[in-house]
Amino acid sequence: MLLEKERQMVVDYGRKMSASGLSIGTSGNISVYDPETGYMCISPSGLGYFETEAEDIAVMDLDGNQIDGSRKPSSEHGLHTVVYKNRPEARAVVHTHSPYATTLAGMHETLKPVHYAMMGANTYEVPLVPYVTFGTPELADEVEKVLREHEGARAVLLANHGDVCFHVNLPKAFGLAENIEFTSRIQWQCECANGPVNLTEDEFAAALDRSKTYGQVQPAK
Ligand code: 13P
Ligand code: ZN
Repeated sequence: MLLEKERQMVVDYGRKMSASGLSIGTSGNISVYDPETGYMCISPSGLGYFETEAEDIAVMDLDGNQIDGSRKPSSEHGLHTVVYKNRPEARAVVHTHSPYATTLAGMHETLKPVHYAMMGANTYEVPLVPYVTFGTPELADEVEKVLREHEGARAVLLANHGDVCFHVNLPKAFGLAENIEFTSRIQWQCECANGPVNLTEDEFAAALDRSKTYGQVQPAK
């Protein structure tokens, strides 16, 4: 099977996305890009994540042609394509309707650094893409505009819809979606109480810097 390993990853992370509550039902979609072939492997449209197997994952080129897989690809394949075309380092895209990120998007708010956990988005403020009907080329166009205006940003909110997160691999893109959801929740909870106190740009930059040696990464000698 063409790109079997990549297709299986999309299956595994789809199940994770469903089980974690980041996306209910058949909402959301996931893709992985293989730079060697120039193909992306993307979840099928409207199929439950626990009913999806590797052969159901659509393999597409970035011109929108389906190369393999008999299932209809995600209705958001154009949006995923736009990410790979505008972010050459991106290897995976996770689109969710996670409840708190979607709460902010429902109020047409951006996500601000009320917690350093959103630093994986690589931007001080996660921008908002204006509302456009789901699964349309027009939505992909609006996402593209925002990506061009926010160089380096690895996440966007979609007004009245959800979010899009991408990274150098699927575990990182998925982890970013989790952190965007967590920070969105904290922002909303702070708004419900006394109001958020966001990190300053300097504090945010320091957290980003600190993250370079976080975890099992060996400190530079
Ligand atoms: P698909 O099932 O076509 O991937 O659509 C889900 C979705 O979230 C549309 O925005
Ligand atoms: Zn959606």
